[in-house]
Amino acid sequence: MNIILLGPPGAGKGTQAARLVDERGMVQLSTGDMLRAAVKAGTPVGLQAKAVMEAGELVSDAIVSALIGERLDSTDAQGGAIFDGYPRTQAQAEALDRLLDERGQKLDHVIELAVDEEALVDRITGRFTCASCGEGYHDRYKQPLKAGTCDVCGSHEFKRRADDNEESVRTRMAEYRGKTAPILPYYDAKGVVRRVDGMASVETVSKAIDEVLDA
Ligand code: ADP
Ligand code: ADP
Repeated sequence: MNIILLGPPGAGKGTQAARLVDERGMVQLSTGDMLRAAVKAGTPVGLQAKAVMEAGELVSDAIVSALIGERLDSTDAQGGAIFDGYPRTQAQAEALDRLLDERGQKLDHVIELAVDEEALVDRITGRFTCASCGEGYHDRYKQPLKAGTCDVCGSHEFKRRADDNEESVRTRMAEYRGKTAPILPYYDAKGVVRRVDGMASVETVSKAIDEVLDA
């Protein structure tokens, strides 16, 4: 099963994707994670993407679709893939159709996480992750059970993303509204969009997504 998690920054895509990986053995394909890894490693793609990402603008369609294509070939996505943060433009949506088609696969669901933009600024500026295993946390909604210690791996180091500041978030929201939300009609026409209330608690959102996948 191949699914897209679609929603603005902070909608909960990464949180839900990580859960689906744990519970269903699906593979998470996050272009944001791939790009951050490229920036960290200082690859040519990373060098090109760094400033664009910090500003909250979109990296080129050619770069992200190439990253997804490479990953589809190299990972064992037999249990299905979760596209997290991709596609973000009409050109990317069409590229993904081709990539799946070439591999004899298809898209099963586009799960739209519907959220209120103002709440997202609060979610994003409070977001942090374990520097060692990547577990996601939040200043107000999900603190580690023991202060300063990762619940999953016990690490004491945490990090925040360079682009998780209010100014970049506003730009990212505008990019979502202007370029990503307009791809919904494309998927609506295919009858694959399932809308989930992303403002509910993590548990409730999880349940709603499970209902879609198990239907
Ligand atoms: P969020 O989880 O906040 O939605 P991501 O981690 O998905 O953010 O993406 C971070 C940044 O990486 C984006 O603001 C953008 O600059 C770049 N990026 C990630 N995925 C894409 C994509 N599919 N197309 C263009 N740019 C992307
Ligand atoms: P995205 O990948 O869409 O940018 P994340 O999954 O990283 O979003 O979530 C953004 C922040 O909000 C994280 O700190 C996460 O712990 C928190 N979060 C995710 N889902 C919810 C939810 N349903 N309610 C409250 N906080 C949430």
